[in-house]
Amino acid sequence: MSRETEDVKSRARAAFLGLAIGDALGAPAEFMTSGEIGHKYGVLKELVGGGWLRLKPGQVTDDTDMALCLGRALVTSGGWSLKGIADNFAAWLKSRPIDVGDTCRRGIRNYMLHGTLETPANEWDAGNGAVMRMLPAALFTLGDEARMTECVVAQAHITHNHPLSDAACICFGRLIHLALLGHAKSRLRREVDGLIVRHENFRFDPYRGLATGYVVDTMQTVFHYFFRSRSFEECLVTTVNQGGDADTTGAIAGALAGAYYGEQEIPKRWLKKLDRKIGDEVPRLAERLVMMSPSRSERRELSR
Ligand code: MN
Ligand code: MN
Repeated sequence: MSRETEDVKSRARAAFLGLAIGDALGAPAEFMTSGEIGHKYGVLKELVGGGWLRLKPGQVTDDTDMALCLGRALVTSGGWSLKGIADNFAAWLKSRPIDVGDTCRRGIRNYMLHGTLETPANEWDAGNGAVMRMLPAALFTLGDEARMTECVVAQAHITHNHPLSDAACICFGRLIHLALLGHAKSRLRREVDGLIVRHENFRFDPYRGLATGYVVDTMQTVFHYFFRSRSFEECLVTTVNQGGDADTTGAIAGALAGAYYGEQEIPKRWLKKLDRKIGDEVPRLAERLVMMSPSRSERRELSR
């Protein structure tokens, strides 16, 4: 196994762990303002649990659950399977999860009732529910941008069909790919600048300080704190302390920061607190997905 492959696998593990940790860290602050968080926690920087969902410390929410549904479907199917993903979403919804976004619930229910794998375009679908769960699709398509674009948009459309959600998913997929391959922040920043040329809404400088479930606010928050941060921990702490949809901004920022800063940068105290089952499954799943990706076969050919 080449050192290069080991590095990509390690970054993939860190990305999925980062998603789960960001979710667990931010969830206690979900729907709070930054002022309310300051009043209650000072700076929220531990996996304390609680919040409106009354979570155990280290417990994750729908963001991680749905990403797991997606990733497991690809491993079980041995390849891309939109139906496999939708079936896992349906089984998850039937299991009465602690929280589900309205748009996600509606899309999954439509699949359960009518077998619909693509929800019609809808001006209300610009929530962050499609981008929050798509990391496994990005890991699985490493090495093939066109395939990544197809896959992340297809999984999005099970529940969300809106150009801004699609654009966020594609840009986030590219950022994950660049970070997994060890590119510098300046290169990632160019990718986001390209997104802003196409969709001005995503401009995040000056930062407006909104972290709602609207995908534009969510991505502005993630971009703002990711590009300012100098470590995994700083990125996640500053992101979730903005409040709003803090578990989801935390999950997205966590995935990106994990891929970018790498596994060794994740604070041990967070790894210890993270739900044990999640902490066991997520890195193994990330590794399998990246080993299924096109980058693997190319790499093998290159080394021959
Ligand atoms: Mn959540
Ligand atoms: Mn959320």
